[in-house]
Amino acid sequence: MSLKKDGMMIILSSPSGAGKTTLTRLLSKELKFHISISYTTRKPRPKEVHSKHYFFVKKKEFNKLIRKNKFLEHAKVFKNFYGTSKENVFEKLKNGKDVIFDIDWQGTKQIKKKKLNFKILTIFVLPPSRDELFKRLSNRDMRDKLIVEERMKQFNKDILHWKNYNYIVINDNLIKCVAEIKKIILKEKKQKKFHQQKKKIQQHIKFLLN
Ligand code: 5GP
Repeated sequence: MSLKKDGMMIILSSPSGAGKTTLTRLLSKELKFHISISYTTRKPRPKEVHSKHYFFVKKKEFNKLIRKNKFLEHAKVFKNFYGTSKENVFEKLKNGKDVIFDIDWQGTKQIKKKKLNFKILTIFVLPPSRDELFKRLSNRDMRDKLIVEERMKQFNKDILHWKNYNYIVINDNLIKCVAEIKKIILKEKKQKKFHQQKKKIQQHIKFLLN
């Protein structure tokens, strides 16, 4: 099958709480992407549904999947394990369907290293400010202050990986952010580059790190 007919891999990464899960869902709805559903050993949050948000599995089952070479990539994020299943993803891509991945920088690095025969587009999502990030994390994991603290601490480390992504977007407004990502994807599908203001992005990263 020619490379042109294959679907594209669109990877969205961000420090936890920047809103990429919502972005992923909105984008897949609008652009009819297939969402790669990951496996995780993390416990489901309220309203999270097995096989819709994640395949929630025990550590033992996760290790079995690693041994059986079922993952395209897998990584430990915070205290839990996450992995992208090869099944479905390759089949969808080969059938010309675009697949969107909500994975961290470690998984992105592993996938890029594999030099697959599919076009890979990587997008890093940033929050508008540390205060906003704190608010979003607190709303999501209100039950556990420790988790929020831990994720805020991790933020400074995670953000440093922005340089390894094709595009950086700031999620200060969901509608605007979806529109920007859509423009990026549509340009890239035509083998063109979407212009971004690098200076503005660098300034925002400085602001987030202060
Ligand atoms: P959460 O627990 O908040 O849903 O996700 C925590 C982090 O794990 C997020 O940065 C998310 O993108 C990442 N993640 C989710 N699924 C995968 C996966 O399959 N592989 C990797 N490497 N990271 C993942």
